[in-house]
Amino acid sequence: MTRYIFVTGGVVSSLGKGIISASIGKLLQARGYSITIQKFDPYINIDPGTLNPYEHGECYVTVDGMETDLDLGHYERFTGIRTTRANSVTTGRIYKAVIDKERHGDYLGKTIQVVPHITDEIKRRIMQHNDEVDFVISEIGGTIGDIESAPFLEAIRQLKWELGSRAVCVHLTYVPYLKAADELKTKPTQHSVKEMQGAGIQPDVLVLRTEKHLSDGIRQKVASFCNVDLECVVQSEDLPSIYEVPVNMQRQGLDAALLRKFGVPVGEMPKMESWHHFLELQRTATKEVHIGLVGKYDLQDAYKSIRESLILAGIYNHVKVKIDFINSENITKANVAEKLSGIAGILVCPGFGQRGIEGKIIALEHARIHDMPAFGVCLGMQMMVIEFARNVLGYKDANSSEMAETPHNVIDMMEEQKNITNMGGTMRLGAYDCELRKGSKVAGIYGTPKISERHRHRYEFNNKYKDEYEKNGMMCVGTNPESGLVEIVEIPSLRWYIGTQFHPEYASTVLKPHPLFLSFVKECI
Ligand code: GLN
Repeated sequence: MTRYIFVTGGVVSSLGKGIISASIGKLLQARGYSITIQKFDPYINIDPGTLNPYEHGECYVTVDGMETDLDLGHYERFTGIRTTRANSVTTGRIYKAVIDKERHGDYLGKTIQVVPHITDEIKRRIMQHNDEVDFVISEIGGTIGDIESAPFLEAIRQLKWELGSRAVCVHLTYVPYLKAADELKTKPTQHSVKEMQGAGIQPDVLVLRTEKHLSDGIRQKVASFCNVDLECVVQSEDLPSIYEVPVNMQRQGLDAALLRKFGVPVGEMPKMESWHHFLELQRTATKEVHIGLVGKYDLQDAYKSIRESLILAGIYNHVKVKIDFINSENITKANVAEKLSGIAGILVCPGFGQRGIEGKIIALEHARIHDMPAFGVCLGMQMMVIEFARNVLGYKDANSSEMAETPHNVIDMMEEQKNITNMGGTMRLGAYDCELRKGSKVAGIYGTPKISERHRHRYEFNNKYKDEYEKNGMMCVGTNPESGLVEIVEIPSLRWYIGTQFHPEYASTVLKPHPLFLSFVKECI
């Protein structure tokens, strides 16, 4: 008896459908239900793996190695569930599946059309979790009215009809405030609901995004103009932290209203003690610590999971982490001291390609020499390895073969990557095991000898140089047991100088922040 919640958005993009979907998931979980959340993205790319972060923000990676939308990061951080490739679907994947079936001859001579073939494939993907969980929350990316969203809306319309009281639609809209008129305007919401109705879908619940508090009168007006019960019109005001959203939704009875719509007994309001404990820590953490984020994309969403992991780790260490973005393209030997002044530690970001790497290397040299805490993630770890080769081992031409073929490619391409011609979905992706060296700093931090973490890269530490690194003080303390690939380096003589080939940030959640981030922020304090 799996039940389905569809989350759509109207009026404008960036309303925070992902946060609302994750919050609904959290509230249902708190009532003891099992849930999953999936994201449908209406673009033609098979996955966002080939998208520039300026286009679509960070690429999030699931345990089973799917490159996905960053909203899956919110789902995992809020609910602690582990998402998989089934939780992320793009229009491109839908069309590819249909076209592959057509080439295979599965349609037995039929003309393949958007309705019913594309819509059936969308429905199949929504229904694939049937009987696995109590609730499936399906977030539809984009804004209704867009040409791209039409097949998704048609699929939802059909499912709502077929599933009856087992399906509910939550629609997010925006209520703008007009300063000159000193008024909040509901007309865009009315139009957006009309658009939904035109597609044959009556939204059951409306979440109104607003910068100012909405009076009951405004909610009443929206309810009666949009055919929605008053208790099903909730507001989502701007809050100091996205993690306040679930409790704000609970206070307005969003989860109770949803359950009533499904005809499920509502029961007591769950207390969510650990979540409230976290919020209390967040509110009372006032002391600040500045951490430098050394990367090349000056855009909040580009390093979303890293930012959130640092902030969460700060809260559990009773501090407010202030992230100072430092564009590595602008770092030079002459200005590095000034750029890093007032900063307690640096995190050197993941990335691809040549742009900005020399600045990352200069920042890391500064951190190593001055014993400033430094955390290298993926490309950041590779830069730690290159910096050490150039400035300690004396290989001035050391580089990654991603950037230049030199006699000292201390970071090199894996054998199995060499013949790959397709760029999409072909990196080393998803979770791999890693064994930690006994007595190492990371073994102490994790408190366990064996870990599993998510990867997204083509290049690797070149094992030819391993002994030389270790003799000179950079230790290869984490390795993959099957391949022998180096996954973690550290310099034990420094306070905190650790680089990971994997991405620990994907595994950090609100109730379970990642040990490496906790330890790094603690050292920065
Ligand atoms: N560009 C590097 C590689 O492919 C690092 C990738 C990353 O930072 N995610 O190995």
